[in-house]
Amino acid sequence: MEKTDKIFVAGHRGLVGSAIVRKLTADGYTNLVVADRKELDLAKESAVAAFFAREKPEIVVLAAAKVGGIKANNDYPVEFLLENVRLQNNVISSAHAHDVRKLLFLGSSCIYPKHAPQPIREDALLTGPLEPTNDAYAIAKIAGIKLCQAYASEYGENYISAMPTNLYGPHDNFDLTSSHVLPALLRKAHEAKTNGAREIVVWGTGQPRREFLHVDDMADACVFLLENYNSPEIINVGCGEDVSIRELVELICDVVGFDGELSFDATKPDGTPRKLLEVSKLKALGWSPKIQLREGIARTYEWFLEHELAPAVAR
Ligand code: GDP
Repeated sequence: MEKTDKIFVAGHRGLVGSAIVRKLTADGYTNLVVADRKELDLAKESAVAAFFAREKPEIVVLAAAKVGGIKANNDYPVEFLLENVRLQNNVISSAHAHDVRKLLFLGSSCIYPKHAPQPIREDALLTGPLEPTNDAYAIAKIAGIKLCQAYASEYGENYISAMPTNLYGPHDNFDLTSSHVLPALLRKAHEAKTNGAREIVVWGTGQPRREFLHVDDMADACVFLLENYNSPEIINVGCGEDVSIRELVELICDVVGFDGELSFDATKPDGTPRKLLEVSKLKALGWSPKIQLREGIARTYEWFLEHELAPAVAR
């Protein structure tokens, strides 16, 4: 990749896309192209085709997706399936039609079977049934992977797919009904501390285990893969360590400074029992993460205080 290559980052307002834009800019890539949702609706095929015809990007990072936590995925499978398939089909097919040299598609660790052996290797894909709380989203992401691989085998395209573990960081979604666990618990702990509440409610049993990667590490890995990886085979991106939800919430409470009680609401789903990625493939290429979980949570809490609370107070 040249520093002057025209790179389209789809989804630049999101958690991952915004981190990739920051990383590319910091690394001296000077020719980035982005488009706000009101300028470009990625779900509209003709709009996406016209955008590619006009902008002619050379490299594409497909970080746009409809994402959400366990509740949102469980409640709105139609939207998660339709919107993701639509936007990824439009971007990937337009990339091919307009001679994009390389495309990075971002999947998710939820593409793997619910009971995949842990840590989860890339070849566990499609070896067993999915976790039902997010199978619609997972099927959409699997369709995206398969489309990239089909373009590679049928047309020789250099479309690569990375599977991130659970991500968190600045520009995350902190809404309690649609967010993932880490930002949700950060908000709950902060609000409990601020309001003098005695306890916070944690969904499920606290026993499921999840692996968390700071999004700046993810962006670092994405740029590394753009520069160094040229295979249609999927590649996992994670830190190789997991924690239970109970351990996560205890760490969050410690960082936030909330010392009340935890109450576990077992009427809420646990989801998949464990999701830890096997990351030796990426490690062997020479990449490893830099941000420890405690430090990452502290940095995310600072961002939350500065950006999420300020507008709420003003409203
Ligand atoms: P998942 O990784 O796809 O299951 O998605 P989430 O990040 O939404 O949830 C991970 C785990 O954290 C699940 O076992 C949830 O039940 C649990 N959890 C505990 N408290 C919360 C919460 O306040 N919000 C969310 N989204 N999950 C929570």
